[in-house]
Amino acid sequence: MEEELTSKLAEQDKESREALSQTRRHLLLIGLAAFAAVCIGASLLIGLGLAPLRRLSDAVSQISEKDFHLHYDGPPPPSEVEPIIERLKQTLAMLQRAFDREKQATSDISHELRTPLAAMLTTLEVSLRKPRNAEEYRETLAECRDLVKQMTQLVERLLTLTWLDSRSDRIRNEAVDAGDVADQCAALVRPLARANGLKLEIHKDSPVRLTTDPDKLREVIANLMHNAIEYNRPAGSVDVSVRPAGTGLDLEVRDTGIGIAPEHRDRIFERFYRADPSRQATGLHAGLGLAIVRGYVELMGGTISVESEPGRGSTFRVRIPSAEIATSS
Ligand code: ADP
Repeated sequence: MEEELTSKLAEQDKESREALSQTRRHLLLIGLAAFAAVCIGASLLIGLGLAPLRRLSDAVSQISEKDFHLHYDGPPPPSEVEPIIERLKQTLAMLQRAFDREKQATSDISHELRTPLAAMLTTLEVSLRKPRNAEEYRETLAECRDLVKQMTQLVERLLTLTWLDSRSDRIRNEAVDAGDVADQCAALVRPLARANGLKLEIHKDSPVRLTTDPDKLREVIANLMHNAIEYNRPAGSVDVSVRPAGTGLDLEVRDTGIGIAPEHRDRIFERFYRADPSRQATGLHAGLGLAIVRGYVELMGGTISVESEPGRGSTFRVRIPSAEIATSS
């Protein structure tokens, strides 16, 4: 009886052990299956979530110096990625504009240099075709010298713009009388005004003293006066007024010239921009003067604006504040 009980108990113990180990196996299998399902599910979800970034990466790798467009194809990006794409597109558009400007500048510079270089080559070739006398050689040399001067002026203007861009053109402030500077500029351009039959007048009531860079101020006034003469009409006039504006300067250069059409007005301060294409062939007007004028005016902390009526004339207005002189203690 006791033996029978012991064997039954042993059998039950064996059965329950087997059931336990089976349950353990099942639990292990379920655990493994659940882990596998979580892994697959998670990688599917991550894959799905990363798909827009993968498409973005593909689109970015297609960008080259020939194509600055971001070709993001497929379904619309999720809201988290959208601002990144927008920012990228803005940056690319900015890069494209800078790249186009560089290309345009290279082509403009080549074009500007080609005209005087071709003229010089022709002059020299014609001169060398047969022996000439001393006077003829002198004429050839004088022609070549004028062309070289023209190219030097262009290169100097380009260098000025490069310095302005790189901010390596420093301001050298000192106390100046703007009226005196205007008189000096007028003395420089008066022979040209006279040759063109124009009246040039400086209007100033009292000395306009301010602290600024006299060389840059001279360049600004001389350029504006020069243009007012160049783009004038026979028997026209140029009136320059120099007045104080607070502690600064209010300069006005008014001409009775050809004027500037509204569609050109905003663009004349751009590099190489010329409103009158017929002057392009001369090589004398490279369209850099006003770009330098604006650069200098801004460097002096001022503003420049233009009012114009086609056929009646233009008025350029410049305001320059007086700079603070740094005092050493
Ligand atoms: P440019 O060397 O051609 O004179 P600027 O930069 O000085 O170059 O001027 C750019 C363009 O603006 C000129 O080509 C001309 O078309 C126009 N412009 C400048 N000043 C005047 C003016 N006073 N009257 C009419 N047009 C002007």
